[in-house]
Amino acid sequence: MPNDSNFTPIKHWEQMPTGYYIVPFDDLDIKKKPTDDGSAGNIVRCTCPDCSENRRHSKEPCVRVDLSTGFGKCYNCGFRFIISTKVKDFNRRQPVKKQHWRLPVTTHLTNFTATAVDYLVRRGITPETARRAGVCSAKYNVGGTERDCLAFTFRQGQRILNIQYKTTDKQFAMENGCELIPWNIDACIGQDSIIITEGMMDALALMEAGFDNVISVPNGAQSDKHLFDRFRYSHLDPLKTIYLAGDMDGDGERLRQVLAEYFGEARCRIVEWRIDDDQHPMVAKDANEMLMTYGTDAVLQCVNHAVPCPITGVETLGTYRQKVLSIWENGITPGKKVGWGEFDDHVQFELGRSVIIVGEPGTGKSTLADDLILNLALLHGWKAAVYSPEMFPPERHIERMATAIAGKKFRREEVTTERGIDYRRTAIPQPMAERILDWLEGNIFFLTEESGRTIHKLLHRAEQLQRRYGIRQLLLDPFNYIQLPDGAKSDTMKIGDVLAEIELFAHRTGLLVTVVVHPSKPQKGEQIESLYNASGSAEFRNRADYGLVLVNDDKACTSRSLHLLKVIVDKVRDDAMGHKGTCHLSFNPQNYRHGMVQTIHQTGEYNTYNILPVSSQCWLDRAEEIEIF
Ligand SMILES: [Zn+2]
Repeated sequence: MPNDSNFTPIKHWEQMPTGYYIVPFDDLDIKKKPTDDGSAGNIVRCTCPDCSENRRHSKEPCVRVDLSTGFGKCYNCGFRFIISTKVKDFNRRQPVKKQHWRLPVTTHLTNFTATAVDYLVRRGITPETARRAGVCSAKYNVGGTERDCLAFTFRQGQRILNIQYKTTDKQFAMENGCELIPWNIDACIGQDSIIITEGMMDALALMEAGFDNVISVPNGAQSDKHLFDRFRYSHLDPLKTIYLAGDMDGDGERLRQVLAEYFGEARCRIVEWRIDDDQHPMVAKDANEMLMTYGTDAVLQCVNHAVPCPITGVETLGTYRQKVLSIWENGITPGKKVGWGEFDDHVQFELGRSVIIVGEPGTGKSTLADDLILNLALLHGWKAAVYSPEMFPPERHIERMATAIAGKKFRREEVTTERGIDYRRTAIPQPMAERILDWLEGNIFFLTEESGRTIHKLLHRAEQLQRRYGIRQLLLDPFNYIQLPDGAKSDTMKIGDVLAEIELFAHRTGLLVTVVVHPSKPQKGEQIESLYNASGSAEFRNRADYGLVLVNDDKACTSRSLHLLKVIVDKVRDDAMGHKGTCHLSFNPQNYRHGMVQTIHQTGEYNTYNILPVSSQCWLDRAEEIEIF
């Protein structure tokens, strides 16, 4: 193909402002009429209305024309045109030009100098290939001095819209005030596939390997995808396959992703500059290096082995096959229990889930949440981060936790003896106190108010704790201390957004997130009985994986020293992790522990409850026993 830059048609043709010649449909020897049905990529071949008459092979169909857009190109002489009946369509579909661009001066463009030829040859490019692609030599001011440059012309139709100058030591300059377009964009005309590279030398390398359907982004990995906007209808929409053939580095990866989304992943294929051969693996950073190091066959092979571009945000079953097969073979790994009898039958905990606890005022939601988290940490090693701003000051909160672990009051209390008040003795011996605090220090982490209490800030801190200390649980108690995002939405909607964040966070990090929520103010005589009583939003129930509702049931309590709590298990999303229903727990205000309750089903309306004693043994001793036996 002759040099496009010198192209002048033999005959006289009308020309569009964009530089394409206009050819009446009757001048083309095709039988099929251009369609208006908008079906893209309807490519036919014919002889060239400009050059064929004068050719020895006058019958050769050297033109490919897309009947859906009307754009055609002669692959013998480089004549680029649009069918007259399609001009109106094209003008209608062209985005309005916002800016008036300058056209570059082209009189300084020359044939290749010896330096240019030497450079191209060293890069594995024959000067003929570069010349056909409209590359010239030119002297141009790069970085303050006039230099010998390769000049890459950016063309549309017969027009040069921009020029990039490149010195042999890889310095660049671009014309000022000229429109930036993809390089060699007209290579798309009459093709059903195109290869996009990250630079012009890579595009030339592919042409050297025999491809003529190659274009390049103009600015490397930083190129703006919207440069393609103007060519979508005329050049890009008809393409069936787009090969993304950028560089094998992080920037190249990002560019591929941007372009794949822009063009639609379904028709994109990824070219990797590597050939995984056991004996001779070949790897290069880009097309030009592949050509220089391994030759044209290697370049060809990489393009031929391009793989379909993954569709972002979609997974096929393949990703999960092994895991599903493992479930098929072994069943679902049972959830973790906390050792609370009937409660354990209803609820088993799994990582990556959310637990919402709502309850009547004074039912000890926070104490239950703390006990739950401690039990999971002690029994299963699930270290926890705790955000409990209402449990203030922190040392008192820690003291409460220490009490639950010790099984009896951690703090020294006044003891009244026959001789008066005894201040001398601490409640538990110092070694035990130290052991408990050591355990707490290694297993429970406290999130403070210090760096903000938006959900993002809180979740960020939890994630850092997960990475550094391997925590598996997060407690947010209570929900209304989380600062809702700014914006015009209603609080109900904002709560929904925060809960969605929490849910996605739990899935992503695999943390078990427990959230304590205050109930909305009950109407007179109304009983709290489901998560719909949570204040602010029905989303609490919708988003929860586990929903627990606490109700005081002391009127059915037979113990003097313990309280009776009714736990309504309002929701267990995964039926392998428990089921809805009601159970009871006892609560010991002396050591903040919860204990087992057996429901005795009576004939008649009422059940009675057998409250089992709550252990007052130190958890850490029990844990050691469990380990030993
Ligand atoms: Zn021709």
